[in-house]
Amino acid sequence: MGRRRPLRIAFGRIFQESNAFSPLATTIDDFRRAHWISDDALLAACGRRGVEIPGYVKRAELSGFLRAAERDGAVEAVPLCSIAALPSGQVAPEAFADLQAELLKRLSTAGPIDGLFLSLHGAMRIAGATEDAEGQLLKAIRARVGAELPIAVCYDLHANFTPAKADLATISCALRTNPHRDMYRVGQRTAELLIARLRSKFRPTRAWRKLPLVLGGGAGIDFLAPMRRIFLMARLFERLPRVRYVSLYMCHPWSDASDLGWAVDVLTDNDQVLAERLAERLAEMIWQVRDVPLPTLYTPREAIEKARAAKWARKAGHVALIDVADVPPAGGTGASTTMLAELIASPPKMTTYIPLCDPQAAVALSALAPGSAVSRAVGGSIDPDRHRPVTIEGRLLGVHDTKFGATVTVACGEVKLVITEKPPMTINPTFFSDVGLDPKRADVVIQKSLFHYRVYWWKTALRHVPFDGAGATSLDHLRGVQLAVPSYPLDQTISDWRAADKRLRKLA
Ligand SMILES: [Zn+2]
Repeated sequence: MGRRRPLRIAFGRIFQESNAFSPLATTIDDFRRAHWISDDALLAACGRRGVEIPGYVKRAELSGFLRAAERDGAVEAVPLCSIAALPSGQVAPEAFADLQAELLKRLSTAGPIDGLFLSLHGAMRIAGATEDAEGQLLKAIRARVGAELPIAVCYDLHANFTPAKADLATISCALRTNPHRDMYRVGQRTAELLIARLRSKFRPTRAWRKLPLVLGGGAGIDFLAPMRRIFLMARLFERLPRVRYVSLYMCHPWSDASDLGWAVDVLTDNDQVLAERLAERLAEMIWQVRDVPLPTLYTPREAIEKARAAKWARKAGHVALIDVADVPPAGGTGASTTMLAELIASPPKMTTYIPLCDPQAAVALSALAPGSAVSRAVGGSIDPDRHRPVTIEGRLLGVHDTKFGATVTVACGEVKLVITEKPPMTINPTFFSDVGLDPKRADVVIQKSLFHYRVYWWKTALRHVPFDGAGATSLDHLRGVQLAVPSYPLDQTISDWRAADKRLRKLA
């Protein structure tokens, strides 16, 4: 065997999930603060001793890419930049222009490359401009590198797959777990496919379908019914000799894109007929489970009563009350006061941890000494149309500087409030333990995460009760969205998805 041809592949990331119902804009500072590395620092972060996105994830898509490059043995990985912001409101146009310019500048100075590997979210929006930020980015990249350069993109499962995304990249692969825990694996697989394409070992041939479906399939968890069977089928398809990857996109319902919808994308080795057939079958399977409902949502009062009744769960661990309408990892602000108002009005007689985003209160209370009495209104400053201030009387427990900015803890009897300057992410128990609240001591924890938190809280969160407060991730918003085609569940009379699919795949 002769020596393999050396390849140069550039790699990078631009990543944010946009919630169009958040009153906050995502600015360039939000990216700078959350994650922004390039060149050798990026290469080191993705290496064996590095941490790809400190504070969030050790190994993700770009580490997976690097691993595949190393395994090949003749790939030079050329670092561009890796930039991400937390899920929040839409990206400000000038911020997006800066991000795009940064990536293009690094591409221009990267020297000759054989391929490009990107990690993108797929549900980023630019305020007042395009609904498909990644489609626009790919367009700008193509204008720079030409139509022929093979480009592989790793997307979040909640991407809104569009004609621009399908046409402008050679290979697209979605994460296949929800909650997401396979960023590294999928990154590696995507990179292997790109390298195989560059070594002329396969001819990427795709077929995709888009469903008039913005919400369906129950909670959408990959290992639970009804989605389990569909993800399993996708894996079975991948065992067929000519199938290389099967992506299933569930879209981000709060992105408010007019062409929003679930999609499937089948990648084969030069077999268009097979790709079309499998995409069609998988789309039909998804359509058949569209009406599996989400778990029942309770009112805050009902949720507290459920926690009170769950004596065993409280003894052995705690009850998680999930504020589904105010989830920062899906772009919520964390500023909802609906549950807090309930807890203050009628104290629960259970040790209850609750986060709240209120920049003004967090900064003002940070100036006080721990132990000080606290008597003031909190909440209502970020999203006054939805959230009313609540007056609390209590004692300041601690003052901290965390990745959520100024952070204070206040005890109002058994209710322990964590007030943050930035939207709080409670996915990891360290959110509470870092500010001196032992998660093991809680009877009730108010979760601001849909279900991703279960990955980290499984030892102590023994009951899960979703409730509907009010916020940017309330499903009520979906009633008002303007969609290009009638879609389920807003229109429940649609019986077949195929006519809508044809229209959605043509929309630019
Ligand atoms: Zn996602």
